[in-house]
Amino acid sequence: MTDRPLKTSDTHLLFSMYEEGPGAFEQLPAGVLTIFPERGFKVRWNSRFATIWQLPPCQDATAGSVFLADLEDHCQCFAIEGACFQLLPEHFSLDGAEDVFRDTLYLNDGRIIHRSIGVSESSDTRTLHCVFKEYPAKQAEQLRLQEWADKFDALPDHICLLDLSGAIVRANRTMRERFEPVHGRLDGLDYRLVYCGTATPDPQPPCADVLSGGPAVDIETQLPTIEGWYRVAATPVNDSRGRQWGAISIVSDITDQVRLRNQAGEQQQQLQELVQSSLDGIIFCDEFGVVSLWNRQAEIILGWTAEEAIGRSLDQVIVPESAVEQHQQGMARFRRKKSGPLIGQRTEVPARHKDGHLVDVEISISAVEVNDKTFVCGSIHDITDRIQTQKELIHHRDHLQQLVEERTAELQQTVKKLEQEIVVRQRVEIALRSFEERLSTVVSNIPESVLLVSSDHRILFANGSPPCSSLTEVVGRQCCELWPSNAAQELQQMLTQGAAEVTQRCIVIDEHDGAGERVVEVSVRSITIHESDNEFVLVIRDITLERTQQRERERAGTVQAHLSRRNALGEMASNISHEINQPLTAVGNLASAARRSLRRLDQAPPAIEEMLGEIIDEAQRAGNIVHRLRDFARRRPVERKELFLKECVESALILTANELSVFRTGVTTVVPNDIRIYADTIHIQQILVNLILNAVQAMEGENSSRRQIWIEAFVRNFTVVLKVRDSGPGFRDSPAGNPLEAYVTTKPQGTGLGLSICLSLTELNEGTLSIGDAPEGGALVTITLPATFREAQTGQQS
Ligand code: ADP
Repeated sequence: MTDRPLKTSDTHLLFSMYEEGPGAFEQLPAGVLTIFPERGFKVRWNSRFATIWQLPPCQDATAGSVFLADLEDHCQCFAIEGACFQLLPEHFSLDGAEDVFRDTLYLNDGRIIHRSIGVSESSDTRTLHCVFKEYPAKQAEQLRLQEWADKFDALPDHICLLDLSGAIVRANRTMRERFEPVHGRLDGLDYRLVYCGTATPDPQPPCADVLSGGPAVDIETQLPTIEGWYRVAATPVNDSRGRQWGAISIVSDITDQVRLRNQAGEQQQQLQELVQSSLDGIIFCDEFGVVSLWNRQAEIILGWTAEEAIGRSLDQVIVPESAVEQHQQGMARFRRKKSGPLIGQRTEVPARHKDGHLVDVEISISAVEVNDKTFVCGSIHDITDRIQTQKELIHHRDHLQQLVEERTAELQQTVKKLEQEIVVRQRVEIALRSFEERLSTVVSNIPESVLLVSSDHRILFANGSPPCSSLTEVVGRQCCELWPSNAAQELQQMLTQGAAEVTQRCIVIDEHDGAGERVVEVSVRSITIHESDNEFVLVIRDITLERTQQRERERAGTVQAHLSRRNALGEMASNISHEINQPLTAVGNLASAARRSLRRLDQAPPAIEEMLGEIIDEAQRAGNIVHRLRDFARRRPVERKELFLKECVESALILTANELSVFRTGVTTVVPNDIRIYADTIHIQQILVNLILNAVQAMEGENSSRRQIWIEAFVRNFTVVLKVRDSGPGFRDSPAGNPLEAYVTTKPQGTGLGLSICLSLTELNEGTLSIGDAPEGGALVTITLPATFREAQTGQQS
């Protein structure tokens, strides 16, 4: 066996030797430990292994009970490695021949041991073989130095050894890699040149004190030649006799740490500021309720300064006496369960002020974990004002409620009164409506047209009576637009003048549609309603008919007078004819006597006899006229009898002889002698006299040569037909109406009664009367009268 490190093949050689039996195992040139995992981690080592690790000879032991415990007792370093080694799964997963784990163990006593681990497998067991070979002392020293050099180089800090002059004796790889590209080889260079960029003593580099005999330093600083923050540590290095020969300098880059620390510091400061400037009081306490943080607002709210409060228990500071027990129970529960009913809640509680009075606060409690310690954090808000405001609000609310109740009661009363008033008003309204309806009915039934006219003469209301009968037509229009201009002007005048008092006027309206003229009586009254502008009430009454009736009444009066005069004249005529009849008879008798006397004389002049004859004739004729006149004028009852029509016609002609002669009117009669009728003589005479006089008057304007009357009679169908025709203008269409109706006349002095009397008299005698114009011109009046039997026979025959 040489001192060279074991190779894989060597290890397997050793394993095979072990397999050969305990004798060979004992004689192996290396310390060997075997472990049997499948046999409850039983271990076995040879005596060389025991020598290396200063262990007792191997006995039957397990890794857990004997082996590990012994190792721990004898070699701590190995024990640690051994424990790991024994339990690491990868060691058990080593795969037979090729797979060997190797490392080097440096023991505290300076020995260096090479270790290799492998696995051998039989059919039913796996065995772990740990082979330890100790290096000889010289080789171990070299290895150790190499080991030290490797570790020195592998360190991440900039490390160098300096002699007392400050020259770099040795620099590790980190330092070399960093500075050699700038300064060239570092060995022998003044460290100040490297660290400070200058070899002059000023400024004092960090290691200067140590090199001049001072104690070790460890400072954080910035270096001119390298960016960032560095921890520079310098430690004096002494020789074996205790004399300092130099120093070791370690420069560690702590830029990130410093940055993080600065950030952490800033954050802490910000946090501090935040906590201090919070408008809420912030209190931290531990699980026992001992205060660890007390911000400014907490000082303001509760009176205790941070210095006074921190370190005290909450129940000594702010918990009211009455709540101390409850608080302590709560804290105890919190310590047990790390939770509580108030955690995470916002609660309104009374807190004790330093001067003893209670402050109403709202407190939000949370649990905070800091470095594995649990704290309770309370955020306190002074709600004294709010509570006060709430109290005031409640007071105001109560007050308002009271007011509302009072006002509600008042309102209810008012409502009750209003309801009563409404009932009364409804009654009044019903009464008013009914009154209004009646009024409206009354107004609309007023036969006169009633208009309400505004101050600017617009029609506001019309009751719908004529002459302004259509509401829709007139409302809104200017009232003066109702009539033609002459009447409108008059109405306009009335409205202009009528502001003061009632004015009344009759206005004649010419209707454009040829319906003649209308007369209205207009009265205007000015009224003022509710201090508004003057309005006018116009009452318009159509008095056209009234006027006509008035005229007719007047005319009827005239006719009455005329008739009564005629009656009187009739009476007088009767009396006069009676009076005249006797002298006329006497005149006739005397003249007859005188003629007889004269005839008895022989020499009577014939002229006298002739004159006497004429006197007799004239007296007879006058007597005749007087006689007829008396009969005509005599008041007598109706007396129908059989009479000759011709005699009646002759009597009528005698009575109208004067008018016929004055107006030079010819009469042609074609009336058979034998036509007899059954009628009142005077009636028939009167009819004929009227017809003849009408014809004479109608022909006044005609040429006298053309004035002619035809009176014709004949019998047809047992009826006597009597026709009176003239050569006048005829009836045409009379503008005054039907001439057969009473009072219809076209003559200024006419009564309009002649034809209507004729009609009544004809009807009294059971006949008919009709008027019309003859085909050859002129007026034709046709009368039928019942014929007596004989005439009827004659008529039939003819
Ligand atoms: P009066 O003679 O008083 O007018 P009447 O009743 O006799 O009353 O006649 C009525 C009207 O009839 C007359 O005013 C006239 O216009 C018309 N009339 C009557 N007779 C004739 C006639 N023969 N020819 C034309 N018109 C006549």
